[in-house]
Amino acid sequence: MKHVIVGNGPAGMTAALTIRAARPEDAVTVVTADEGAYYSKVREPDLVAGKVDAATLELAGESAIRQAGIDLMAGVAVRFLDCGARRLFLEDGRELSYDRLLLATGASPVVPPVPGLCPPSGEPAPDTPAGTRGRGAGHPLPAGVFALRTLQDARRLARAAGSARGAVVVGGGFIGVHVAWALAMRGLRVTLIEKMPTLLPGACDPEASALIAGHLERSGIRVMLNTELEALESGGDDLKVRAGGGAIPCQLVVLAVGVRPNLALARQAGADVGEGVITDGTLATTVPDLWAAGDVAQTLDLATGKQAMLPLWPLAVAQGRVAGRNMAGLRSYYRGGLRVNAVHLGPLQVISVGDVFPSGPSARVLTTSGAWGRVSAVPVPWGRFPGQPGAPGFTPVYGRIAFQDDRPVGALLVGRVEAAGILANLIARAIHLSRTDDAVRLLRSVLRVALPARL
Ligand SMILES: Cc1cc2nc3c(=O)[nH]c(=O)nc-3n(C[C@H](O)[C@H](O)[C@H](O)COP(=O)(O)OP(=O)(O)OC[C@H]3O[C@@H](n4cnc5c(N)ncnc54)[C@H](O)[C@@H]3O)c2cc1C
Repeated sequence: MKHVIVGNGPAGMTAALTIRAARPEDAVTVVTADEGAYYSKVREPDLVAGKVDAATLELAGESAIRQAGIDLMAGVAVRFLDCGARRLFLEDGRELSYDRLLLATGASPVVPPVPGLCPPSGEPAPDTPAGTRGRGAGHPLPAGVFALRTLQDARRLARAAGSARGAVVVGGGFIGVHVAWALAMRGLRVTLIEKMPTLLPGACDPEASALIAGHLERSGIRVMLNTELEALESGGDDLKVRAGGGAIPCQLVVLAVGVRPNLALARQAGADVGEGVITDGTLATTVPDLWAAGDVAQTLDLATGKQAMLPLWPLAVAQGRVAGRNMAGLRSYYRGGLRVNAVHLGPLQVISVGDVFPSGPSARVLTTSGAWGRVSAVPVPWGRFPGQPGAPGFTPVYGRIAFQDDRPVGALLVGRVEAAGILANLIARAIHLSRTDDAVRLLRSVLRVALPARL
């Protein structure tokens, strides 16, 4: 039996190793447009910050992968997939046959369609994997503009940060905030622009956003909310970012406005595609002998009970394991995953879990103020903070827990995050708290660990 896996990220590598362990007699080939080593994308901002070197990010080198019995074809993209003939066509002219195929092609950063970034037609860049061939198939990003996905991206950005004085980070999500912090820690003058009214949209309410923005501002990062990127102008050594009606001069721009799954091969295969590749509980697609896992796949969100895109490292690993086991003929099910995002901004940690903004008549939130209310019944007062901004040892603290009826479905913790694991467990296991009193009592005991604020 011949297994082929496209992609050497956590989904692809976990699947490859799972198949090897389960069926040592089978052939396993991994094809990737990226470099051959298996590395941590999660730690790329640390490389940009100069906290670690590239070797620290390596989880398994090419030789270790080959020693594990995996045939690794690195630095070459799959250009076409013919599922009828069970053949893959590589960009260098080679062809590969397979019996079972996994698409673990991940996602690529979105490039906003604004003048100076996209081709004059305004067409979005085609679906091309981030990798050795650059991004956007013939529409590379202008000099000084970066989007962080591959290790090569991180190395290039770290190098550019060494000589730049000012940077603009576009996008105030988890990656954008983390990169802004990393660049500021290297001494750059950083402006962070976010088109939504809060930082970490989808995870942060206005209270938490204000707290995080205050922390960033006190650390020298200018935060501009409700500010959309309008255009990028290049001229001489400097770039000019047009946003919010003004112009910000800088030498370096980082795009962090989200990712889009690499769906081209799945579409060629004729697999059903929604936002991502549609999979069943075994991570099989709608095409025989074709599986999908990781950022490219649409899977069950345990917080909402709906299919969703959850582009997260631990979920890619879990999905790779399930897909690999099924490809090896062992029955295995993926029960779904939780959206968990975290960022460490020096002394300030932020973690969000699950669905922080549930909707509908049974949705309620509990914040550090201790106020119960319908989701629409904002604003709620802030928690009480132990100390003042700027005082030694001051850590701002904020907590929000969201419910559907009596079931916790989401949590946001800022400043003290020790309770995140307990809350994630309650959410993932869909624990019902039968009475409001029980919920409040439980949350008091959980939050007391995390929050000194009175409930
Ligand atoms: C800067 C950064 C920080 C992050 N931080 C976190 C975090 O804190 N926590 C967290 O949970 N997640 C984080 N993530 C997300 C996490 O890294 C991804 O969810 C995870 O890597 C997805 O794994 P994957 O295997 O699905 O895809 P990827 O890791 O994207 O791997 C896909 C591979 O497929 C290859 N490929 C695609 N198309 C083709 C083709 N046609 N031919 C050949 N090869 C192809 C690509 O080159 C790539 O190597 C972060 C991501 C980034 C970029």
